[in-house]
Amino acid sequence: AFEVLVIGGGPAGAAAAVYAARKGIRTGVAAERFGGQVLDTMAIENFISVQHTEGPKLATALEQHVKQYDVDVMNLQKAVGLVAPKTQGGLIEVKLENGASLKSRTVILSTGARWRNVNVPGEAQYKNKGVAYCPHCDGPLFKGKRVAVIGGGNSGVEAAIDLAGIVAHVTLIEYDSQLRADAVLQRKLASLPNVTIVTSAMTTEIHGDGAKVNGLSYKDRNHDTAHRVDLEGVFVQIGLVPNTEWLKDSNVALSNRGEIEVDYRGETSMPGVFAAGDATTTPYKQIIIAMGEGAKASLSAFDYLIRLPAE
Ligand code: FAD
Repeated sequence: AFEVLVIGGGPAGAAAAVYAARKGIRTGVAAERFGGQVLDTMAIENFISVQHTEGPKLATALEQHVKQYDVDVMNLQKAVGLVAPKTQGGLIEVKLENGASLKSRTVILSTGARWRNVNVPGEAQYKNKGVAYCPHCDGPLFKGKRVAVIGGGNSGVEAAIDLAGIVAHVTLIEYDSQLRADAVLQRKLASLPNVTIVTSAMTTEIHGDGAKVNGLSYKDRNHDTAHRVDLEGVFVQIGLVPNTEWLKDSNVALSNRGEIEVDYRGETSMPGVFAAGDATTTPYKQIIIAMGEGAKASLSAFDYLIRLPAE
């Protein structure tokens, strides 16, 4: 059995594993795809002290750093269930898709999240070539250009306000007849001179020249008319979905959005189970934050272990 078992091999999981291994305790990492979302990222320019790197390069570095230590890395392993220990301080069980199960005194959940796609022609083709999901990450790449934000909830409206300060023009596209963001955000958005708000609009296609994005088409749902906007970038902001479906039947408390509820130490509602990164209720989903939270969850797990009664 492990003393610390990390589920997920993104920035949060990698940081948790390194911190646990450096305590000299039996550490394992089970991940469906080591590297996580970082593998799908092109340029990374906000990982402090590294001016510029690329996702696959950072993902390789994460794995190499973990493998520097005596960590049992189990790649291509999907967790499908979590079972609480029979007695307090007993072994927690993680069930894998292949039928096997892993046991550990503590478990760190870091299964991350995924951006919801609009699923229109051009989205997949132009991902990282004008189609973006993270304004904090990619906003500056569109300095002085024209962009659209798809989604009029809080994240879409926040993204539009944020981007309006960097880009030349923002078109906010909302499917519904009205925006769903908080009123204070809507007022702020409406006050910006370089933002156009289009409601009752269904995005139908993201256009490009083969290399990069050059437009977006939508259907006006009230008049059934087609429109095209010329632009250089599209930010899709219709939700970030935590990878926590596999925890629904466990006793780990999830928020109404499916995020793992954690306290300031990274503890979940289940003793011995900690969590970090995009899968949790911690705000701002970023690499540097996921890493910090992973380190914190790992130190909390260690703190928990040293307080368990000696066997
Ligand atoms: P993830 O990176 O999502 O990793 C989750 C891990 O868990 C993966 O290994 C996954 O395979 C595994 N997993 C999931 N479910 C299971 C399961 N059931 N069993 C086992 N393993 C499982 N952030 C920045 O700071 N700067 C940027 O420039 C930036 N650009 C981005 C660009 C794109 C296109 C995307 C998608 C994200 C970007 N982000 C950026 C956000 C950043 O990638 C995330 O905040 C960060 O990766 C979160 O780390 P994490 O470890 O919590 O989760």
